[in-house]
Amino acid sequence: MVAGNWKMNKTFQEAEELISELIQEFEKSEHGCDVVICPPALYLEMASDYSNDSGVMAIGAQNVSEYEKGAYTGEISAPMLASMDVSYCIVGHSERRKYFGETDKQIALKIERLLENAISPIFCCGELLEEREAERHFEVVEKQIEEALFHFGEEEFSNIIIAYEPVWAIGTGKTATPEQAQEMHAFIRRVITNKYGEQVAENTTILYGGSCNAKNAKELFANPDVDGGLIGGASLIAKDFVTIANSF
Ligand code: PEP
Repeated sequence: MVAGNWKMNKTFQEAEELISELIQEFEKSEHGCDVVICPPALYLEMASDYSNDSGVMAIGAQNVSEYEKGAYTGEISAPMLASMDVSYCIVGHSERRKYFGETDKQIALKIERLLENAISPIFCCGELLEEREAERHFEVVEKQIEEALFHFGEEEFSNIIIAYEPVWAIGTGKTATPEQAQEMHAFIRRVITNKYGEQVAENTTILYGGSCNAKNAKELFANPDVDGGLIGGASLIAKDFVTIANSF
């Protein structure tokens, strides 16, 4: 799978142009993976219309409320996303943890709301630079996964996608080496095996995110435990995003 996180970029017109370009390119390309784009919430309806017509990509949101409905001004609920044919939603992105104080507890609630509405969460985890330097990266990622995900039963867990995103690699141009990515992905799969068993772990999609681009995607995706990528900056350029999707 490749998923594009557009973050807070593009006007409506620019977003429509990018989606049209992506559809044209994907219709021509031979990619053998699932493609998801996560535009800003305001454009989800437009993106879903294009996606329903073309069938070449699915639509994801970048955030969801932890509440189901009611007096929560400015929030967007999981049933609202579902009513716009949104199939995926990013949760726990490091930017939301850092700038909006999102906690693992809130993230767990958001995931509950998504699963109740048949939307697959793309759960982001990853360590800060100082945590890696202190060799605490495995411990940090394990704790994030345990606290946000491990209260779910096997069936619910099977609908969750995990994105390992070392925070020091996001938007910095500093990618994890293929060895660092494989080492952490294999660790995450072991953590899942210990909780849910080998079959669930084997079937879990684990994406890598953090300065993944058209040049380094092939090398990262060649690793046995890297099942694709969550792509930020490079998902805003149609040709690059398509090249990434063709990198398996
Ligand atoms: C992201 O925001 O999830 C991300 C991976 O960003 P970038 O590819 O720009 O590092």
